[in-house]
Amino acid sequence: MDANKTPRALRTNIALIGCRNAGKSSLINALTGQETAIVSPLPGTTTDAVAKPYELIPLGPVTFYDTAGLDDDGELGLLRIKATRKILFKTDIALVVASEKGLQEKEKSIIEEIRKLSIPFLVVFNKSDLTAPNTADEEYCRQKGIPCLSVSSTTGKNIDRLKEEIIKIAPPELKEDPLLAGDLIKAGDTVVLVVPIDLSAPKGRLILPQVQVLREILDCNAVAVVTKENDLKQTISNLKEAPALVITDSQVVKKVATDLPEQIKMTTFSTLFARYKGDIGILLRGADQIDRLREGDKVLIAEACSHHTLSDDIGKVKIPRWLQQYCGCGLSFEFCTGCDFPEDLEKYALVIHCGACMLNRVEMIRRLKECERRGIPVTNYGLAISKTQGLLERITAPFPAHIRSSAAL
Ligand code: SF4
Repeated sequence: MDANKTPRALRTNIALIGCRNAGKSSLINALTGQETAIVSPLPGTTTDAVAKPYELIPLGPVTFYDTAGLDDDGELGLLRIKATRKILFKTDIALVVASEKGLQEKEKSIIEEIRKLSIPFLVVFNKSDLTAPNTADEEYCRQKGIPCLSVSSTTGKNIDRLKEEIIKIAPPELKEDPLLAGDLIKAGDTVVLVVPIDLSAPKGRLILPQVQVLREILDCNAVAVVTKENDLKQTISNLKEAPALVITDSQVVKKVATDLPEQIKMTTFSTLFARYKGDIGILLRGADQIDRLREGDKVLIAEACSHHTLSDDIGKVKIPRWLQQYCGCGLSFEFCTGCDFPEDLEKYALVIHCGACMLNRVEMIRRLKECERRGIPVTNYGLAISKTQGLLERITAPFPAHIRSSAAL
């Protein structure tokens, strides 16, 4: 597989963090066997995080992030450090890179931050060709239970071992493929996908979640039939046998539920991705909060990327409209897009997040856990829509019982 062609959301993000001239850029070059990051003997050559894709077998496609130095100074330096801290929020694995000077206060303080975020990490004593790690630093790592390794980007010493260590500390969810639809269908089944082709559909292609589901159906040796919502009735009547499952875009869930006989199982792409990309229990409990919304409550609509807003935009227009119709009261909506997730989450009665197709699983779970930690219910677009259409029970019915019951925890 060409590592460069894997969508960013499906990659494992590995950030190299440390002071200026700890040799982070050279280390990435040594790990990937390519000259990409700017390598200079002058401290602080790396400004923005430089991303380098690589195939780290058996982990799969990864991106190494070469970040600005923690000891960067001046106004620009502070902005660079802020950017480095943002990278942490989407980091799956961190390498704290120490130069021949060893672990200083800056490295120790970032280690604490990384620990708070529960990011698996290891300390890399770089430049072992110049000096061996000092015993105080080794003792510090030993006492705190931090794995560490001494390497040299110049001589290549322990670079292969470093790759093995990275694979070893990777969280299990990165080593296993999370379930999308594979447990809901079996070989020989027919699965109908309902894909509206409206103004919000990208020109000439399907979106990533639709492509992923399609691929998984084929991997299961099942048959995929793709249709538009207005052709669903005809599609079903053309089939010799009823499909094992219908998977629809959430925006047309009501029409699909109306047109589909009650005995045919149905769910939505959003429900599949609530499990694949996040924590479906948290998201289903968040959807239930919709019943408790009251006049004037603030709702945050969070989108993980920015895009052109259409007149009937799903996040800005449709969801606020459906939510207020369902609740029968006026709500106040705030919106955030891109990498910035607000600090002051406590002011919201509910967070409704987009499907997060551009985020990786760890990034999305980190957002959900942050909401949960602060006691703020969070759901996703598709589940919120199905809830307001009274269809939450029907679209979760094809899932195993433990998932449905996790919603009530
Ligand atoms: S689902 Fe979220 S991340 Fe994906 S395109 Fe829409 S706004 Fe962007």
